[in-house]
Amino acid sequence: MEELNYQEVVEKIKARFPQGTVKHREDNGRAYIPNQVYTDRVEQATGSRWDREIRDVEINIPHGYVKVIARVTIGPHYRDGVGFAEISDSKLVTNKVDQATNEAIREALDTWEIGWSDLAPYYQKEKDWGSNPALRHLLDSPPPPAGTDPGFQPNAKLERYCIFAKCGVQLTQAEWDILGRVPNLNRDKMTYCYKHLPDHLKRRLPDGVRTKFEQVREETANQSTE
Ligand SMILES: [Zn+2]
Repeated sequence: MEELNYQEVVEKIKARFPQGTVKHREDNGRAYIPNQVYTDRVEQATGSRWDREIRDVEINIPHGYVKVIARVTIGPHYRDGVGFAEISDSKLVTNKVDQATNEAIREALDTWEIGWSDLAPYYQKEKDWGSNPALRHLLDSPPPPAGTDPGFQPNAKLERYCIFAKCGVQLTQAEWDILGRVPNLNRDKMTYCYKHLPDHLKRRLPDGVRTKFEQVREETANQSTE
């Protein structure tokens, strides 16, 4: 397996996301990028060679909060992040731990400047971090058009293997990507190559996504037999 090139990985992590990636919170309108997008970016950039680990969980019922420290490791480097969630109802503690964990991981990833160039344009008020002249360079590059990702190499093989009995084939980035497009599918568990992805799951894919994927797949297959 080729060695992980840390510099290259970091460049891919920091690269701008496609247009439309930034969302706005319903309550206060602040710009954000969904966690799944970050996870997917790091997956793609590292070819699944990264790790996250919960270092500490503090559940403080009297003071009504959960605190989580999480560590993200990429190659030889790791970064820690801290996440908090308020507890108002002790029955919901598990949810709150998840919420704080997500925040902690996001904080850790943030130190690699993930999503900064995408979010900076939304934080241009005088008090906001994005307007700092030292970060002006973040505004220089335009986003790639929707549906493209500079770190995306459809035929690259990932450290993911089809779980279908006796298959075990190594998934391509495109196959891994499309699993991520099946609504409510946990691709960490339901890891199938496209051939073995059950039909009822294929049917859940958005039409355009499925057609395009199958087209590209057929073209690639034809090329390799010519
Ligand atoms: Zn398979």
